[in-house]
Amino acid sequence: MLKRILYLILVFSSFSALAEEIPLKKGLTKPLNITKDVEYYVDESGSSSVDQIVDKEFRKINDQYFLIPFSDKSFWFKVDLTSRETNNEEWVLNFSNQLTENLEIYRQDSLSGKYKHVGTWTINSSRSESLKGQEPYFNFSPRESETILFRIQNKRGMRTEFYIYPASISQDVLLDYASERQLINGLLIFRLFLIVTLSLFVIKDIGFRGYSFLVIIKTLGYWGLINVLNPSFADTIELGGQINFLLYASSPVGVITFSLLVLPLKDLPKWVKNGFYLFLGLTVIAHILVWTEYDWHYVYFGILIVVLSSLYTLGIFALAVLRKLPIQYFYSVPFLVGIGSYLLLNVQILLGIKIPLILILTFFFFTAEILIFIFFLGRIFYQYDLKGRLADQELENERIQSEKLKEIDNLKTSFFTNISHEIKTPLTLISGPLQELRKRNPSEKLLNIMEANVIRLGELVGQILDIQKLESGKERPNIIKADIARQIRLQVMSFESLATSKRIRLNLQQTNDSFEAYFDDDKLNKIVTNLLTNAIKYSSEEGEVSVTVQFENHPKKVLISVADSGQGIEEADIEHIFEKFYQVNSQNHQGSGVGLSLVKELTDLLKGSVRVVSNKGIGTTFMVELPADEDTWRDYINHNTEPTDNFVIRKSSDQPITPTILDQDPNEKKKLILLVEDNPDMQEYLSEILSHEFNLLRAFDGKEGIALASSEVPDLIITDLMMPVMDGLEFSSKIRENTASSHVPIIMLTAKSNKETKLKSLEMGIDHFLTKPFDTDELNGVVNNCLENRAILRKVFSQNVGESITQLKGEINPWEKAFMDNLQDFLENLYHDSSLTVPTIAAHLNMSESQFRRKLKSISTFSPNEYLRKFRLHKAAEKLKNSSKTVSETAFEVGFENLSYFSKIYQEEFGKSPSEASKS
Ligand code: ADP
Repeated sequence: MLKRILYLILVFSSFSALAEEIPLKKGLTKPLNITKDVEYYVDESGSSSVDQIVDKEFRKINDQYFLIPFSDKSFWFKVDLTSRETNNEEWVLNFSNQLTENLEIYRQDSLSGKYKHVGTWTINSSRSESLKGQEPYFNFSPRESETILFRIQNKRGMRTEFYIYPASISQDVLLDYASERQLINGLLIFRLFLIVTLSLFVIKDIGFRGYSFLVIIKTLGYWGLINVLNPSFADTIELGGQINFLLYASSPVGVITFSLLVLPLKDLPKWVKNGFYLFLGLTVIAHILVWTEYDWHYVYFGILIVVLSSLYTLGIFALAVLRKLPIQYFYSVPFLVGIGSYLLLNVQILLGIKIPLILILTFFFFTAEILIFIFFLGRIFYQYDLKGRLADQELENERIQSEKLKEIDNLKTSFFTNISHEIKTPLTLISGPLQELRKRNPSEKLLNIMEANVIRLGELVGQILDIQKLESGKERPNIIKADIARQIRLQVMSFESLATSKRIRLNLQQTNDSFEAYFDDDKLNKIVTNLLTNAIKYSSEEGEVSVTVQFENHPKKVLISVADSGQGIEEADIEHIFEKFYQVNSQNHQGSGVGLSLVKELTDLLKGSVRVVSNKGIGTTFMVELPADEDTWRDYINHNTEPTDNFVIRKSSDQPITPTILDQDPNEKKKLILLVEDNPDMQEYLSEILSHEFNLLRAFDGKEGIALASSEVPDLIITDLMMPVMDGLEFSSKIRENTASSHVPIIMLTAKSNKETKLKSLEMGIDHFLTKPFDTDELNGVVNNCLENRAILRKVFSQNVGESITQLKGEINPWEKAFMDNLQDFLENLYHDSSLTVPTIAAHLNMSESQFRRKLKSISTFSPNEYLRKFRLHKAAEKLKNSSKTVSETAFEVGFENLSYFSKIYQEEFGKSPSEASKS
């Protein structure tokens, strides 16, 4: 091939002017390219006979090769030969394109001067000659001067050259061509074999596999271009053309598959992928069309798709490089070089433009691709090996980590188990006396809270112990034969009161009212209880919880589904909720994360399964399936146990969940405390303790709390740290941002209080922490302490009316200071205006009159009017002392219009009359 190319260049550069006849010279040892002296005529109809065209005007090609376009036309070529020195030696006329579909050869008869048909060559006629090479050729013994005419009909566009050489060297030439082709073919087959084997057994990397698929398609494409497969199958020109088309026009499939595998599509615009799919679709359409009819338009369309998809692919890779995206260079570079080679070849025949160096460039890119890939192969090996080793290491790390986690988990379980055992005794000792107390004080509200919480604590301890037992494998199913439908009905009914108190509709539907089956009553109860507790706990008011039970026969089976219309679970959390101690958002709800893991362990033990389907914001459905047939449980049946009828009726100790204002007596001088706490029991407990001494406001979350704080301006706020909607820190910061409530002292209840939370809380102006559990005295102590501090401060403020706030001593928080500064600045400018009223001042401070009154009173003990009067009197005292103005002038200057009223209150305030003050 290379020889031929060099030869081509030589011929090209020594291209000389017009030669009419081609002399057949003796001693020619290489084929002679005679293309430029060949003349051609285009028969537009495609059907003219030799006699019809013989007198037409032929034009000289005058170039080293000729491009036959895609068409139905016939191309006639005329070669004028002279052979004075050849002594009847045989010659060969050679046409360089093996994809020539139909070639007819005519020779002028020496007697009649007419052209006679002497040979036909079709794309599938090289069948028997394939060893010699598949380019069409024509053997003849020339006369002294003679003209050979031939006609080429080709639907596919192609490039062709015409060569002539003596038959004596034809064997050499054919061998030359054959060995050239075999060399390339061998190289390609070797590459194909190497890459496919590596990708199947060694480098199991997706990029490598994409590349090997591409190599398969490209190799087939090459075979299509040299017409190798075709002679073995085809017996018509159409079929020959179609088989070749299938091979050489499938390259977009390889190119696009490779691109889709190697490009980081998620970082590229969406249209990139769609573009690839579009070209894939168009390729398939082209093939369908060509296989329906071998029409040149369809073939043209197929090649057009090859060219456009290659350009598109090059563009997308350029885009990826520009965006600095990883494109697996080891594969992409040879790939792109390969595309370049095929693109050049096709663009030329598609557009019919002549690119002089095309063959050299094509060959250059063709070999470059192979060489570059071989060069990169070592790197690919290395990288693949490294990746493998890293993956192994990661796997090992993961194993170690999961072992550690398991260890920690076990530690936690054993820790909780120990604690639970410890708690059991005191719990019993609380629960007994509690029942005694209940008998003595049947109406005591605090006992409700205690009872509900003793049950809750008891259940939690029980669950932890159950889990530990299940995990240790000591627990066995205790199977009874009974009416399972009845048991489930009773279990669900025990939740009715709880559901009603939360205004949740609880439905139960069973396929049978009664169903004899084999099951573990106690464990089933635990499963149903846990699922129902969660369904109710995680549903909001007015929600709905539906329990649906299906009973199946042959074999007996129970399918329980518990569906709620609650908050739902995030997709990412679903896989974890059955893990021990896992809580989706431990901030917002009480719980331990034990319930569902117990359900899982129990269903496993009972040879069943549990599944969950959830939509965030819409609801959650848990589905439990349990086998209930005799065969499954034969070894576990206990004939001595009866199904229980004794279910704990689940009740809420909750109070109505709306913010309430309790015990407010406006005449009484009780201080007003706002409780913000989501746990109704804790609310109740705090209220019980505080309601004797204080007026109380109650809110169940931060949002309600903020609204109440702003409208009622309490003297103190007690808030929990962990609450739904917003936590205590966020709540406090909102309280401080609101002018009306910014000064109110805040006590924060915390279960866990680390240093960080404390620091953050101090920044937010939280005055006190109270760590749970706390007792009555502690709470009273902290509340009183807080209020006393406030009283001291109030005293400071009240004694220093009219003085700059910065001079005041004592604990002033920045929010109070800002408020007082603002108030004093405003009064400083306007106190002399006798028409200044309280509503004007409140409006300036962005508060309602009542907010302003409550706030000022709580900071300074004075009502706004008192404060304004005092402010003016203090200003008057200053003025009387420092200026020589008369009393009435001074009174007027500080905004008093009535002199005797001024004198009276001045006397009251300072114990002496204004005139006395002025004299001194
Ligand atoms: P917990 O004591 O926290 O309720 P569970 O093991 O019972 O522990 O549940 C684990 C987590 O699964 C809970 O923290 C909760 O977020 C979520 N979860 C369980 N049931 C539901 C439900 N019906 N709706 C929404 N979330 C649920």
